[in-house]
Amino acid sequence: MEEIVKNTESVELDKPLNFIEQIIEEELAAGKNEGRVHTRFPPEPNGYLHIGHATSICLNFGLAKKYNGKCNLRFDDTNPTKEDTEYTDAIQEDIKWLGFNWYGDVHYASDYFEQLYEWAEKMILDGKAYVDDQPAEVISAQRGTPTEPGVESPYRNRTPEENLDLFRRMRAGEFKDGEKVLRTKIDMASPNMLFRDPIMYRILHVPHHRTGDKWCIYPMYDFTHGECDYLEGITHSICTLEFEVHRPLYNWYIDQLFDTEYRPRQIEFARRNLSHTVMSKRRLLQLVQQHYVAGWDDPRMPTICGLRRRGYSPESLRAFADEVGVARREIVIDVALLEHCVRTDLNKTSRRMMAVLNPVKLVLTNYPDDKVEYVEIENNPEDPTAGTRQVAFSKELYIERDDFMEEAPKKFFRLTLGGEVRLKGAYIIKGESVEKDADGNITTIYCTYDEDSRSGSGSEASNRKVKGTLHWVSARHAENAEVRLYDRLFKDEDPAGHKDHDFIEYLNEDSLHILTGCKVEAALKDAKPLDRFQFQRIGYFCVDKDSKPGELVFNRTVALKDTWAKKNSGN
Ligand code: ATP
Ligand code: MG
Repeated sequence: MEEIVKNTESVELDKPLNFIEQIIEEELAAGKNEGRVHTRFPPEPNGYLHIGHATSICLNFGLAKKYNGKCNLRFDDTNPTKEDTEYTDAIQEDIKWLGFNWYGDVHYASDYFEQLYEWAEKMILDGKAYVDDQPAEVISAQRGTPTEPGVESPYRNRTPEENLDLFRRMRAGEFKDGEKVLRTKIDMASPNMLFRDPIMYRILHVPHHRTGDKWCIYPMYDFTHGECDYLEGITHSICTLEFEVHRPLYNWYIDQLFDTEYRPRQIEFARRNLSHTVMSKRRLLQLVQQHYVAGWDDPRMPTICGLRRRGYSPESLRAFADEVGVARREIVIDVALLEHCVRTDLNKTSRRMMAVLNPVKLVLTNYPDDKVEYVEIENNPEDPTAGTRQVAFSKELYIERDDFMEEAPKKFFRLTLGGEVRLKGAYIIKGESVEKDADGNITTIYCTYDEDSRSGSGSEASNRKVKGTLHWVSARHAENAEVRLYDRLFKDEDPAGHKDHDFIEYLNEDSLHILTGCKVEAALKDAKPLDRFQFQRIGYFCVDKDSKPGELVFNRTVALKDTWAKKNSGN
């Protein structure tokens, strides 16, 4: 009883419970499973995890945390043809990076192959399973339709002894792929099609990434998942809605094999889909294999590793999962919500830096040639503990080309000839003249500075208000950088949702812009891959894994504001 009180007390009261939490709390109140909550995350190691998986991870690990429970990691590795240790490693890395720890060792469905095999033999001896010699197409054709019963296999009434002998010979490798299957003997007329003698084992002469050549027969998902849940003491087996029709079969197998009061309970929730992308691993794999992207971790991919490389923080992905919640109805979530979550987090946490992406040289004609001053700039106004840094200032600077116009309209609050702006943290300057190349492009802007106007000096001029403040870098001190700007990978909101069109047709050819010759402030010199920054007035950026000292590379995570919404609303 004490345990239950403790569990309900740990519940935060400010947010309404989702339907899974309601189920769990009712069960806890009723003393079910001795107050235990034990979930699992069961990825199939046939690809990298995506943002949909991230929501499932947050749900399963989050529930365990909330109810002082446990969450296992179990690889659902029953299909050796598509699975690989590259994926099992990446998946573990992603889960840890998201901030979760699984309970105990990593589990694999393949750890239970021997046990499952024994249970299959038991079912054969109980007259509940038989070996069928028919090819897959015939078995499939015999299943009937939801309104018409199926046809019984001519092998359905083999004796348990004959079945046992054949099944052992299947295991021993005497038959070729597809020559035989083990089927459960349930009911060929069941209204639930999955009950029409489902396949339990198939022959696959394919080495497995963990068991090697030990097995040439592999159990099917339905026969595997519930039993693994049972063996691990899982209380809540949470999965996506497509498994709802499998639930009776999940329960049926457990009923055949175990007679304890304890039962894992399958609960389904709706998949979370994201707009302007595809989420199925099959499609993501196609993008990688056909080189539409640079790999699983291409920063445009909706994979966890892609988002990480793009600059998303684990906190922002957890906040996103929390924001989308769980429901029974499938929804497409606007990618703008994900971007909003990362902006909110990075606004609080990222250091501000000055970077000029499209530089034009600016010379202060009345500033001493060799003088260098260090101006103090706040690292993060949102974080009082972030402190300040000293930024070198000198006669030759870079500013953004866009921040200057020779003749500007009234509302242009940046630099013009004859107009004044403040250089962030430094002086007020005034545009005097420009130099152009043969094509008429501005190569240098000449300005004068007001010596008394330095920010923070306390002078009258230091408080003088001018209409704009620009970011800048000192030419002599700047580091060169490459900056990669990303846009949505697909032009369409639901690229995989068009019946007569392949999702590839909707790829956005403009999803990557590479800017070279960018100038960033010297403090970024030693930035390491995955370090995240706000480039002032521009957006949030993250150091790419390709970055090296002297050859810095940054990825834009998101712009400061949601410009996409504006661009597409027609105003
Ligand atoms: P996909 O269909 O995208 O290839 P999957 O369902 O085959 O994914 P699994 O490795 O089987 O991938 O998934 C592991 C867990 O993540 C499952 O419990 C699955 O239900 C859940 N999951 C997968 N995609 C989503 C999603 N879009 N939203 C929420 N949960 C998901
Ligand atoms: Mg799956």
